[in-house]
Amino acid sequence: MKDLANKLRELNIGSVKENEPLANHTSMKIGGPADILIEPSSIENLRKAVEVIKDSGVEWTVIGRGSNLLVSDKGIEGVVIKLGSGLDDLEIDGTRVTAGGGLSLVNFAITISRKGLSGLEFAGGIPGSIGGAVYMNAGAHGSDISQILEKAMCSLKMALLSGSLTKR
Ligand SMILES: Cc1cc2nc3c(=O)[nH]c(=O)nc-3n(C[C@H](O)[C@H](O)[C@H](O)COP(=O)(O)OP(=O)(O)OC[C@H]3O[C@@H](n4cnc5c(N)ncnc54)[C@H](O)[C@@H]3O)c2cc1C
Repeated sequence: MKDLANKLRELNIGSVKENEPLANHTSMKIGGPADILIEPSSIENLRKAVEVIKDSGVEWTVIGRGSNLLVSDKGIEGVVIKLGSGLDDLEIDGTRVTAGGGLSLVNFAITISRKGLSGLEFAGGIPGSIGGAVYMNAGAHGSDISQILEKAMCSLKMALLSGSLTKR
């Protein structure tokens, strides 16, 4: 595991921590250590990291902002990949929006609303990341992500909706 951590550090992919308590990364402030926890600083670095981790044969788990996680005191074996500020880009093209998996859902909903787009009002109070929201199909007030998601890219970026976002 030490070798893998060093290899990831050499690649300069972003933050690499060993034996990192997951309590530092969950809303409930619970959870034992991840053998390695990485926070890639860009989509390219995420790709590089995943290639190296796959080659190593070590198990990996993706998390977002930890708002729906109850992690045991035993922690999570292998590598935990946290999508955060390095993957929080946002592109708006008319009513089509592409957002990084690490972007905060609340910030996303507010930004979209300020740009005069409608369709994400339900998400204004749901904590977590875009990636977590898509994985969990987060919803409230009779609506949910499935109603606006156009596609989720395997690069872990998300393209959201042309159908349901409308100009106000
Ligand atoms: C106070 C509070 C209020 C809440 N209210 C609501 C609500 O109204 N409606 C609602 O639906 N939920 C609600 N939730 C639950 C939570 O906010 C959602 O489930 C949220 O979408 C989780 O996002 P996250 O980034 O925190 O994911 P995490 O908790 O980090 O992860 C959740 C799951 O998603 C997976 N995952 C995360 N990111 C990715 C990714 N990029 N790619 C693949 N898999 C990924 C993880 O492996 C894990 O299985 C609430 C939670 C809290 C604490």
